Amino acid sequence: MEIVRPHSHRNLFSSNDAASAPTIPLYRSAPPLEVRLEDFESFAIDRLRVLKGISDGLSRGKKPDEMEKLVSELWKVNMRHQHASEVLNKDIISHFVLRLVYCRTEDLRKWFLSMECALFRYRFRFLTAEAQRAIMDEFDITCKAVNIMEFESIKEKLGQVARSMGQPLPTGDAIFYKVPFEDVPELVAGRRVLLSQGYAYVAMNQVVSLVATLFRSQLSKTLILTNRKWTSSIREQEKHRLTPIVEALCSSYLGPDFSQPKEYAEISLKDIDQLAKTSFPLCMRHQFDKLKEDHHLKHGGRMQLGLFLKGVGLNLDDALAFWRAEFSKKVGLEKFEKEYAYTIRHNYGKEGKRTDYTPYSCYKIISSTPGAGDHHGCPYRHFSEENLRAALSRMGVNSRAMEDVMNKVRNRHYQLACTLTFEALHGVPCDAGINHPNQYFNDSQKILQPKKDSST
Ligand code: SF4
Repeated sequence: MEIVRPHSHRNLFSSNDAASAPTIPLYRSAPPLEVRLEDFESFAIDRLRVLKGISDGLSRGKKPDEMEKLVSELWKVNMRHQHASEVLNKDIISHFVLRLVYCRTEDLRKWFLSMECALFRYRFRFLTAEAQRAIMDEFDITCKAVNIMEFESIKEKLGQVARSMGQPLPTGDAIFYKVPFEDVPELVAGRRVLLSQGYAYVAMNQVVSLVATLFRSQLSKTLILTNRKWTSSIREQEKHRLTPIVEALCSSYLGPDFSQPKEYAEISLKDIDQLAKTSFPLCMRHQFDKLKEDHHLKHGGRMQLGLFLKGVGLNLDDALAFWRAEFSKKVGLEKFEKEYAYTIRHNYGKEGKRTDYTPYSCYKIISSTPGAGDHHGCPYRHFSEENLRAALSRMGVNSRAMEDVMNKVRNRHYQLACTLTFEALHGVPCDAGINHPNQYFNDSQKILQPKKDSST
């Protein structure tokens, strides 16, 4: 792929080419496409939204039919393009950009491989029989169809397998493929296929397993090759242009930046204690309580909580009053004005470079490394099990929900643990999952505000 500056986009897939290409590209080699720098990043982010959505759905234990619906929605929302003829290009470009992003470590490769394979499976199922066959041809599967004589000789055994799975017996026009058994590990493991002399006989409706295994093995090899190219040349050649984008992409936070409170305009200082109880996520609630208790927070905590409060709508004057009221009890008014007020004004872009700083996303908070005496970070990641249980029960999480939350924590799904906490406390599902403390706050207010308004 060649990266070009904006406004010189050339599409090598003419409409004819697009029509004759299989509906799911197999991404065998990077196409000779020219890509605008801005598309390079934005297409990748859109595909990442799909993959992260799949990852989220799977870790939430969604059922296969729920996953099918989810993937189709995610694809529709994120992978469309204003020009229909560009949809295929977007698909291909975004895949190759993410391949660069995710080839760089073993863990990244593993994640990308499983999510791309899951995506491929669901997309394959949505295809017409004709499009499915086109892909099978690409993988040379159709030439392995069992002929009528061989079918007659194994018909009885195929029938036994079908019966054991409660499926109808195969008839003469059924199509079976004969492939090495290692090409369909999940069918073999689930005893869902006839095995004979090292071969598996795969029915047409099971073909997705076979195609997905071949897709996986092809992608796995190319990820290793891409990694070699990345380390030997691309990283250095592109150090001023693509490398910073590639390195930032896998840790990108994909939601809104919450630097300006949009939904609930401003919050008032007098309401803040109540809001902390009802609508702050655990990370902010913990820091808020510690500030009230110790009348002090170290720098990491002041940044994390301070920017969150700015994002929920505490204006600069109220923020100064809020921090002053607590800190002056410990360090005195003079020291507060001299040493701490500057950072607060700085967060609001009123000092230094006058940058309007953005509240931290969950990813950033979870990846932080709080030291002794720090109270910032994500409790789901940074608390001991005992402390986390105590904090959750203070928030009002019941014992059944607590076990689900702790389960997610054990599997290192910290944002899902937070999502389950949100759901337990608000009594409604949070399908999008929690990705940002300010999103937690806004979603909570959306639920609680109307209730409050109707009761007044
Ligand atoms: S998951 Fe996000 S919002 Fe929830 S506690 Fe951790 S950092 Fe805060």
